[in-house]
Amino acid sequence: MPLTYVSTRGDAAELGFADVLLAGLATDGGLYCPTEIPPLPTITADMPYPEAATAILAPYVAGSFDEVELGAIVEEAYGVFGHPDVCPVVELEDGQYLLDLTRGPTLAFKDIALQVVARLLDAELARRQERVTVLGATSGDTGSAAINALAGRENIEVVILHPHDRVSAVQRRQMTTVTAANVHNLAVAGTFDDCQDLVKGAFADAEFRAEVGLAAVNSINWARVMCQIVYFVTAARAVRPNGEPVSFSVPTGNFGNVLSGWYAKRMGLAVDRLVVASNRNDVLTRFFETGTLETRTVEPSLSPSMDIQISSNFERLLWEASGRDSAAVAELMVELRSAGRVTVPDSWYRTVLDEFDGERLDDAGTVAEVASTYAATSCLVDPHTAVGLEAARRSPAATPMITLATADPAKFPDAVESAVGFHPELPAHLHDLFELPERFDKIDNDQAEVAAAIRKIRR
Ligand SMILES: *Cc1c(COP(=O)(O)O)cnc(C)c1O
Repeated sequence: MPLTYVSTRGDAAELGFADVLLAGLATDGGLYCPTEIPPLPTITADMPYPEAATAILAPYVAGSFDEVELGAIVEEAYGVFGHPDVCPVVELEDGQYLLDLTRGPTLAFKDIALQVVARLLDAELARRQERVTVLGATSGDTGSAAINALAGRENIEVVILHPHDRVSAVQRRQMTTVTAANVHNLAVAGTFDDCQDLVKGAFADAEFRAEVGLAAVNSINWARVMCQIVYFVTAARAVRPNGEPVSFSVPTGNFGNVLSGWYAKRMGLAVDRLVVASNRNDVLTRFFETGTLETRTVEPSLSPSMDIQISSNFERLLWEASGRDSAAVAELMVELRSAGRVTVPDSWYRTVLDEFDGERLDDAGTVAEVASTYAATSCLVDPHTAVGLEAARRSPAATPMITLATADPAKFPDAVESAVGFHPELPAHLHDLFELPERFDKIDNDQAEVAAAIRKIRR
């Protein structure tokens, strides 16, 4: 029997992989999780990355994609990466390693899952003879990674909203210079929150949603979490080929990336600590200190992709920590939404603390970390990675520590320059980014304008 998926809130249909891929969020507002966690296949340190990925992902997609089809998709997806190892590991200093997730086409770790997810989605839609409109809002990395992965796909239109004049020039140009006919950028006269509300509004309109075939590839989509399991395994093997335990420090926003590390551990990977590294938006750090989840207003930081106060994927961990008590999780999530604050049962809290540590770093500490890492190792890191590195240093773990590098420093040139005194260079394939023409439409912060723009695209 192929593996199936259930919602964390227990009130949605049990689905196979392909339906979960297309659904994103469950109809009861919960997140889809695998009913069983398959055992880790044999992965060796010298295995090519696509081969390891195919072996690890096969049981999760069984019943929807066979191993041959999956293998071809994975091989093609990782062919576009700028390093033969796809996700190389470097030793920074004794016992401290960096897992480099920045070698994808848009220079952030989201490429690693989205390049595979886009191809899985397109293949499934071809099979069903359906077309969808992927709609999303971005403050930076997600939009460019989604656009790059979805550009030119036969059965998909992609519409990304960004706040006009409020994303960095590098990030905007990575979206607006893509020439594929199925890519549509809408610059909204408003903030990132306005963009998100417009996207939510479009999805909430069931009639419109069906009319234009809305779909999402945001970080709560199980397929993304699944793809990220792979590099935790390959990195552990690279550092400890014989399988001794390692620990990971993960710069965290929506809790998707570090959750994948937890799944790798559940599959059987020897992992000691999982360090959750946050910036000043420290909802998770405060949870680890107190057992209470309390959302506050989002404050902008030098690591903007972690400026989040509702870490959506944390619900998956709570569901597992509760012993899969869907009713209790549903109640808790409703309370968090309405009251902005909820304390989890003590047994769940202790289960989480058994495996995770929480750390936080402010902007001044982040700049100092970029500078000191560069001075000590000649390795230039971005502000998100710097938060992870400092958290790793504070961890008492007695194992080798692997910090995940989540973006290339050239994506955040101002913060990096303020730390090291020079401007980080874009890699060769993006050298002409500032010469290419841009293509986007400006719209007002208005639901009807979004709908009109999407209808025009679908015609
Ligand atoms: C998205 C992102 C993160 C946060 O990852 P989550 O899966 O949301 O925890 C961290 N760093 C960078 C550079 C990102 O783009």
